[in-house]
Amino acid sequence: MSATASTKRVYDFAEGSRDMRALLGGKGANVAEMTRLGLPVPAGFTITTRACIDYLSVGHTMPAGLDAEITRHLAGLQEATGKQLGNPDDPLLVSVRSGAPESMPGMMDTVLNLGLNDASVQGLAARTGNPRFAFDSYRRFIQMFGDVVAGVERSYFEDALTALKQSRGVTQDVELGAEDLRQLVETFKVIYRAHKGEDFPQEPRAQLDAAIRAVFESWDNRRARDYRRVNRIPDDLGTAVNVQQMVFGNTGPRSATGVAFTRNNTTGEAGEPFGEFLINAQGEDVVAGIRTPEPLTQLREHLPEAYDQLVATMGLLEKTYRNMQDVEFTIEDGQLFMLQTRNGMRSAEAMLRIAVDMVDEGLLAPSEAMMSLVVADQVRQLLLPRLDISGVAEPAARGVQASPGAATGIVVFSADEAERRGHAGESVILVRDETTPDDFHGMIAAKGILTARGGKTSHAAIVAVGMGTPAVTGVTDLRVDEAGRVLRIRDEFTVHEGEYVTIDGAKGTVYVGQLPLLPPDPHNPYLERVLSWADTFRRMKVRTNADTPEDARRAREFGAEGIGLCRTEHMFGADQRLPYVQQMIMATDHDDLVAALDALRGFQISDFIGIFEAMEGLPVTIRLLDPPLHEFLPDYTDLRVRLARAEATGIPDQEALMQLPNVERLQEVNPMLGTRGCRLGIEIPDLYRMQVAAILTAACDVQARTGTAPIVEIMIPLVGFEDELRWLREHVLDVAEAVFAEQGARVEYHVGTMIELPRAALVADEIARQADFFSFGTNDLTQTTLGFSRDDAETKFLGDYLSKGILRSNPFEHIDRSGVGKLVRMACESARDVKPKIKLGICGEHGGDPDSIEFFGAIGLDYVSCSPFRVQTARIAAAQAALHAHQH
Ligand code: PEP
Ligand code: MG
Repeated sequence: MSATASTKRVYDFAEGSRDMRALLGGKGANVAEMTRLGLPVPAGFTITTRACIDYLSVGHTMPAGLDAEITRHLAGLQEATGKQLGNPDDPLLVSVRSGAPESMPGMMDTVLNLGLNDASVQGLAARTGNPRFAFDSYRRFIQMFGDVVAGVERSYFEDALTALKQSRGVTQDVELGAEDLRQLVETFKVIYRAHKGEDFPQEPRAQLDAAIRAVFESWDNRRARDYRRVNRIPDDLGTAVNVQQMVFGNTGPRSATGVAFTRNNTTGEAGEPFGEFLINAQGEDVVAGIRTPEPLTQLREHLPEAYDQLVATMGLLEKTYRNMQDVEFTIEDGQLFMLQTRNGMRSAEAMLRIAVDMVDEGLLAPSEAMMSLVVADQVRQLLLPRLDISGVAEPAARGVQASPGAATGIVVFSADEAERRGHAGESVILVRDETTPDDFHGMIAAKGILTARGGKTSHAAIVAVGMGTPAVTGVTDLRVDEAGRVLRIRDEFTVHEGEYVTIDGAKGTVYVGQLPLLPPDPHNPYLERVLSWADTFRRMKVRTNADTPEDARRAREFGAEGIGLCRTEHMFGADQRLPYVQQMIMATDHDDLVAALDALRGFQISDFIGIFEAMEGLPVTIRLLDPPLHEFLPDYTDLRVRLARAEATGIPDQEALMQLPNVERLQEVNPMLGTRGCRLGIEIPDLYRMQVAAILTAACDVQARTGTAPIVEIMIPLVGFEDELRWLREHVLDVAEAVFAEQGARVEYHVGTMIELPRAALVADEIARQADFFSFGTNDLTQTTLGFSRDDAETKFLGDYLSKGILRSNPFEHIDRSGVGKLVRMACESARDVKPKIKLGICGEHGGDPDSIEFFGAIGLDYVSCSPFRVQTARIAAAQAALHAHQH
């Protein structure tokens, strides 16, 4: 590459294409693509993401040479448009917009109407014959520039606007005349000077340079950082800056601005494009939800030619991108302009339907749809609760169906309060007049979002759909009194902060009070189609973690192909068993122990029969007891309190007195690393022997009664040494022979281990000699490899690590590929070296996480095992992992 090409930091729209997203950002690349396609796009240029990164990394200074490049492209733009920035007769106005490689809607800054000053506003007024429009544009520019570039709070400007309207006795902005707005411009300039300590800049190039810097800086503002963290977007991508000729949707009744989707983004339905517009308005009015817009179909009545051209353009864009598009457009005096196109955010229902329809329409092959249109994690949204409306009266209010799903929670009126109470574990519904990007941190923490204003393309709706959070917007009967922390619906309902409301985003309804929610309906025909594709592509099996027959059955409905982890401790903790478990722990002699274990064996046999029957011939991995025994005894401090109370009141507490010595005996400084897992089996061999006998007795019973033999996998937890497993395996074989002799029948069974300690991973070749299978317990393996106790990490320091960027994501949710992942990979390789047929799976929580599943697919695991509700997600993620591996 020549020096000039490698340092080129500004691209004309005509120089780029959709393939240049990393460099030009999504908006820049797509505007370039639309330009290439010959669509009506206002001219402009894009300053690259690389320029932004250079700016931020070199002390927030403009990279050398950038200035000259901007000058060159600006000259080109002026030539193409025949207008000059700041020209007092016929000025060029530009927008300066952010645009990152990954869509971050509304998170960064934008400045519109740049180039206006005291002289050029006159030119604009003269050229358009519309002084009202010119002064309105100028006051908007000062306000936006003041807010975004100079840090003058928006509210100062808004207060001045409100005061002006009051003094004129009007309520709507549109009722203000040209002279009013001219005065408002003067007021705004005074406000600017008062807060910034200098005059509003009149020199257009100085305006432009300051706006470009502000957009660069906005890459690192709080809401952008929060958004990147939640959406796992890297911090080092940077944003591009798009400088584009302004076109105006607010020049009169033949002008409009709007946002539209090529298909319905809630249901996925194709047909007429779907969206909203406002006549005589600027784009920010739609997105900010300040006015509630009209449905797009109405545009045909107002401006039929522009409407037809828009519909044709959207069709072309969808075919080009082979994905549902979300476009922004402006109509200036009847002429259509396309400002943006991007892949549209959509609900899970819409995502699946669009994928299926586009395959049926011949636009994509199933494998392509799988990779480009299906987001595995989003499938879980289909499992969001629905509202149980049987027996419920009419909703208190109705609004726009902004984001599907139902939610119930206490109302809060600020993002900070939503964040505070949400993090404290409360279910909150964030209620606002409208949301702005500054509310993002509260929106993440809320179970639902409710706004008085805004349509389906308002900030609240777009962000909620993206996050899968239920939302209802545009509830015109809703009055939000943020200061008084109360909402009112007409004169009928008053709800204070902390009281309950329930919303149904699929219906757009609002109810006062807490309503019951129903579990979701998992049978969606589009999902079934997508899952059927997934099953043809994937190589890894998907099992489930289940400890009860009900869970096992549910998981099978979701497509689980076996149980990868049945935790037996949950069976021990159940009410009727606990006394025997305690008897076992407190046994003072062998007879006592045997009596307790005999009782437990009876329970365990029926537990395992239930599970084997539910899984009908699919593999079932049963883990022998893992947790430290003190977990089955009362808490030490509680006992001490009980005994102190007994002493004070003189009423003896016999039970507490008896339990205390055992609780003291079993107390450990560090139970996570103490007497648990296979160490228990080695200390109390009869315990594991009882469990093995129960498992195999149950298996023989099910085989005899149903004719279907269960596939039994007995799993020993927390092994770190080959000899631990050798020792316990011998016990298993010994018990098995005894059971088979007693039953007069045999069943097939395998003995394996969990790999959840770094040592186990390091000596996997040795351990593999004793094991038929490995199941990676990545929960413990993450704890022990990182030296993080999960509870302590998640409640104490992990948040700080994430916000400081030391960790990119929670390693308990997404596998730490370079650390824990490396151990898993090494263990797989060395185990297969000694035993090529060894079965390898994973049963930690990462088994249901698409990002981790991709990794497990790449290193060749045989299966993942996850909670029942994640089985469908995992099937899709496993298919994507296989397709991904195939592509690379
Ligand atoms: C694990 O450690 O990953 C595992 C599945 O076991 P548990 O979560 O029960 O410790
Ligand atoms: Mg574990």
